Amino acid sequence: MGILTIDTAITGLGDLRSSLLESGDRGSDAEVCQEAVNILYTLLDSGVHTIEEAKDLVHDYNALAKQYQAMYERFGTAGHAVHKDSIWHCPNCNRKVTLGHSFCHWCGKKME
Ligand SMILES: [Zn+2]
Repeated sequence: MGILTIDTAITGLGDLRSSLLESGDRGSDAEVCQEAVNILYTLLDSGVHTIEEAKDLVHDYNALAKQYQAMYERFGTAGHAVHKDSIWHCPNCNRKVTLGHSFCHWCGKKME
């Protein structure tokens, strides 16, 4: 079969949809085919042409979402300074911080 491209997937789904519609009582399956074709066209519009590229896209997206989440937890949400050995410490980098500052001056962690 070679490399499965989005184009060949769209053609295959289109053929399947036609035969489902011809068979008469499989209208809901034909709708499912149409939805899948719509999704594939959206991928094509985004410059994705092979199934491998589509997988890479999802993988990249997930990696970015994870990074964003980590950044948000680190800098977007405030943390409490930790009191230890009569010094206040940053909850993220553990360095000495001054109470009342909005951010850790070492790592940028937002402070309450
Ligand atoms: Zn810090």
